Amino acid sequence: MSDTVFGKIINGDIPCDLLHDDEHCIAINDISPKAPVHVLVIPKKGIPRLVDSTLDDQALLGHLMLVAGKVAREQGVGDAFRLVVNNGEGAGQTVFHLHVHILGGLNFPEGQLAG
Ligand code: AMP
Repeated sequence: MSDTVFGKIINGDIPCDLLHDDEHCIAINDISPKAPVHVLVIPKKGIPRLVDSTLDDQALLGHLMLVAGKVAREQGVGDAFRLVVNNGEGAGQTVFHLHVHILGGLNFPEGQLAG
């Protein structure tokens, strides 16, 4: 397990607002939400960054996408949400344990990447 805040959450050492928990990942509300719905999908395996994943992680990465879609639907934003993975400090990654941000409840201008 990674020695990060997410590793500690997965170990039960730090409390969280848990929305989903299975054998491979959890989903929690972000502690400092940047959108009305801001959820993090976090694999239990402590992969630091997306680029550190390997072919062995292929099924796990797909699983994170499926869980993200399920949780987005459950949170009421299944028809309009974005997924973000910050990879590396230069992209704004602050917690070096792979995670997928689900952002929903925002106005997404048509055809634009940034909201
Ligand atoms: P990133 O910048 O992509 O590494 O995202 C890290 C995210 O983790 C940020 O959006 C933080 O607000 C969030 N975060 C940090 N600590 C916690 C925590 N204890 N519980 C939930 N979310 C957290």
